[in-house]
Amino acid sequence: MSENTPSANVDPEELAKFGALAHRWWDPASEFRPLHEINPLRLAWIDEKAGLAGKRVLDVGCGGGILAEAMARRGAQVKGVDLSDKALAVARLHLLESKLAVDYEHVSAEDLAAREPDAYDAVTCMEMLEHVPDPASTVRACAALVKPGGHVFFATINRNPKAYLFAIIGAEYLLRLLPKGTHDYAHFVKPSELSRFCRNAGLAVASLVGMTYNPLARIYSLGRDTDVNYILHARRE
Ligand code: SAH
Repeated sequence: MSENTPSANVDPEELAKFGALAHRWWDPASEFRPLHEINPLRLAWIDEKAGLAGKRVLDVGCGGGILAEAMARRGAQVKGVDLSDKALAVARLHLLESKLAVDYEHVSAEDLAAREPDAYDAVTCMEMLEHVPDPASTVRACAALVKPGGHVFFATINRNPKAYLFAIIGAEYLLRLLPKGTHDYAHFVKPSELSRFCRNAGLAVASLVGMTYNPLARIYSLGRDTDVNYILHARRE
């Protein structure tokens, strides 16, 4: 496989990081605690924009399935894809406990896009773009997977000194919310860059919302501050 093939848009070291912790994915007191805590917020935002009930939804980089299951619980028909076998094994196992139906598959967004173009009412890709070598390629794949008029959601981390301070120094070193080395500053994506990737892929940016954490109250909230974590909502043209 040459570096230019679409399937090469993956960093094995990144997959290994998530794989090593995957058995703790559903433990709300584990390294995945932040994902558990932000889940109700992002779920409500996505549901408000896309109306999940009865929709065909794809979750790209689904990991252990925290968002995928929550969307299924809202009545969506959900498929989750990831390239970590360990994360997918945990996601499949958790369905036995939750009694929900999610179709999990080990496939890249790019390969699935070649197989199932224009297939989904909504595509979500949360906290994954900052872990791939070529985020623009992932954005193009998500755009190809969604139906014309459909919804695409990306959540990632902004790139500026404040994001470095909060997402790396704060979250990994001071508050220890995440293991050291979880995030690499160089892979953070500015909203302007993500918007450009979207436009180039035929997606019209519809809205942007920031996600902030108050360490004293230990509360996450959605709002105007997109300096660190943010979610972008786009519609396929
Ligand atoms: N989206 C989930 C999990 C985020 S953790 C959530 O927000 O709850 C990041 C996930 O991206 C991990 O499961 C990791 O295995 C996955 N990932 C990293 N690189 C990937 C790639 N190139 N293709 C698919 N998944 C990838």
